[in-house]
Amino acid sequence: MGNLSMVKGIGPKSEILLHKLNIYTINDLVTHYPFRYDYLTRCSLLDVSDGDHIIIDGRIDSVPILLHFKGNMNRMNFRLATDSGIVGVSIFNRAFLKKNLLVGTSVIVIGKLDKSKNVITAADIRMGKLSDQGQIEPVYHLSSGLTNKNMSTYINMALLMHGKEIEDDIPDYLADKYNFSNKKTALNILHNPPSKEKLKEAMIRLKYEELFSFMFKINYLKEKNRETKDKWRKEFNDDQLQQFINKLPFKLTDDQLKAIKEITEDLKSSHRMNRLLQGDVGSGKTIVAFITMFMTYLSGYQSALMAPTEILATQHYNNLKKFLTGYPIKVALLTGSISKKEKQNIYEQLKNGQINMIIGTHALIQEEVEYQNLGLVITDEQHRFGVNQRANLRNKGEQPDILYLSATPIPRTYALTIYGDMDVSSIKTRPKGRKEIITYVKKQSEITEVLKMMEEELKKDHQIYVIAPLIEESENTDLTTVYTLRDNMNLAFGNRYKIDLIHGKMKGDAKELIMQEFVDNKINILISTTVIEVGVDVANATMMVIFDANRFGLSTLHQLRGRVGRGQDQSKCILVSEQDTKRLSIMETTDDGFAISEEDFKLRGHGDLFGTKQSGDTTFKIADIKQDYKILLQARNDSREYLLDSKYDGDILKQRLINNINDEK
Ligand code: ADP
Ligand code: MG
Repeated sequence: MGNLSMVKGIGPKSEILLHKLNIYTINDLVTHYPFRYDYLTRCSLLDVSDGDHIIIDGRIDSVPILLHFKGNMNRMNFRLATDSGIVGVSIFNRAFLKKNLLVGTSVIVIGKLDKSKNVITAADIRMGKLSDQGQIEPVYHLSSGLTNKNMSTYINMALLMHGKEIEDDIPDYLADKYNFSNKKTALNILHNPPSKEKLKEAMIRLKYEELFSFMFKINYLKEKNRETKDKWRKEFNDDQLQQFINKLPFKLTDDQLKAIKEITEDLKSSHRMNRLLQGDVGSGKTIVAFITMFMTYLSGYQSALMAPTEILATQHYNNLKKFLTGYPIKVALLTGSISKKEKQNIYEQLKNGQINMIIGTHALIQEEVEYQNLGLVITDEQHRFGVNQRANLRNKGEQPDILYLSATPIPRTYALTIYGDMDVSSIKTRPKGRKEIITYVKKQSEITEVLKMMEEELKKDHQIYVIAPLIEESENTDLTTVYTLRDNMNLAFGNRYKIDLIHGKMKGDAKELIMQEFVDNKINILISTTVIEVGVDVANATMMVIFDANRFGLSTLHQLRGRVGRGQDQSKCILVSEQDTKRLSIMETTDDGFAISEEDFKLRGHGDLFGTKQSGDTTFKIADIKQDYKILLQARNDSREYLLDSKYDGDILKQRLINNINDEK
């Protein structure tokens, strides 16, 4: 639809201010939805109290008197005759309004009432009357330098000048079926609501459209992934697989075996695998991933395992090598921090097929990386990768099978949207012999008790994770930081234990070094931000203390807590928080990631399930999948029908939606 500069009234300065709100195009502008509406209904002077913020209309009853002060300040006073009596109005720095404020003119006054003086100190004066059903005012997110009024003016100007170019993303037959207005009308209503009823209708229309295009994309990707993989079909000898499994140091659980069976069928079938392996922290997904890599090796293909952090990639690498001892399989590790020369070497060997399996971070999907015959891609903790990144992955290698591992059990509603394009295997029960982690919620005032509990563990030569939400002290928060915590802990334990810290701003090798020292039990207490959130496995760490626990969503806490309880000893988790203890106490009563995620979803909506790291492509501008679940289901079914029914194949809209999806990659 074009650039902001094409909208009359938006100059270079305002453009910069709009950029700060991520508004770059006219389309961004007209879909900058109000985050709230203020419902303005007329107050009666008889019902309001001193200091109330009120809105009232009336006629100007005296010639405004303008007073000037030093520094270019001014104040204007006049009397207003309202339905509920006469009141004084006083407003600062609006001298320019005076010429419009003639006696007898109708105005709307918004401000604060001083009852004893019977004066409203006005924040705003507008011309006209309040309508009897009241007025609905959109309230926008702003950047400093922009007013709500500016925003509204820009949006309305854009709608006026470019409204004709706004395209509907709902097929006509569906718009007819639901009696939807076109998008332009709906946007107009959203930004200038004439009534609550109309606003509601327009919102439903826009929510539906957003969910419809999203689900169309999900359905499209699902179909596309179902494509045949021709020559990439895997074949291998089951006995060799069985031998590998028999040599494992433990017996696989029923759920693990079931997942392996499902994966085997995918690999051997003529369709590409696009499967999510979902299971709680510690449920044993990694070994299933390794077995899948082994099967791929047996079939003569390379495989890649992608982890969200270097620490995790390194850990997987070391583990995998252990499991593969005795096999002539070459495994490599590729992360951001290895030397250029070594990287070059790895690229070389990936291309000529000398490397059979590779483990790494995002580096694996960068352009330069070429494979000889990549037959499998696995991503661990896949919620860190969004739908689009997944698509990127899929295009590496000609038609690799894809397996995603996720330890974040997703509420059913949500799974439909973000995992809608995949098949799902679940590991529900953890390997036997694992003890439940005992969780306590403690207040800051109970810190002595917390320290005592910590000392008990340390005396047993067990290790402890301490989590703090921030790295450095920032001016406007008093959140605990890793540095303060380290100092305080050293003080508390009289420097008797080795305490170190790790955080996301450290260089890759520095982090790894510390992590390795922790693995080797050279560090007793490891203070960390959430960088250790995923997957790290240190069996001797039996306690986790999380400061400012209220800052985290329950699912995140559950993930964090899963770092302990990895060995034979009883593990404990202490959540330290002044606030929110009722919500946190859910963590004391359940260890079921699924129940926790449902609870999180109920309490805080979907945004939090993925922390701040969630990828942008599942955040909606207007829809809320918790509240709009019914619309979502409808949109899912409708978009599927629209996609699959060939009678719509000639539709321009259908082509456009498909092109958009392919362009995104
Ligand atoms: P996650 O699902 O969180 O990735 P992991 O795969 O890291 O869990 O498994 C956690 C630990 O349990 C690992 O040390 C792993 O070797 C071990 N493990 C996995 N499967 C079993 C099993 N069937 N029996 C016993 N231990 C197992
Ligand atoms: Mg894991």
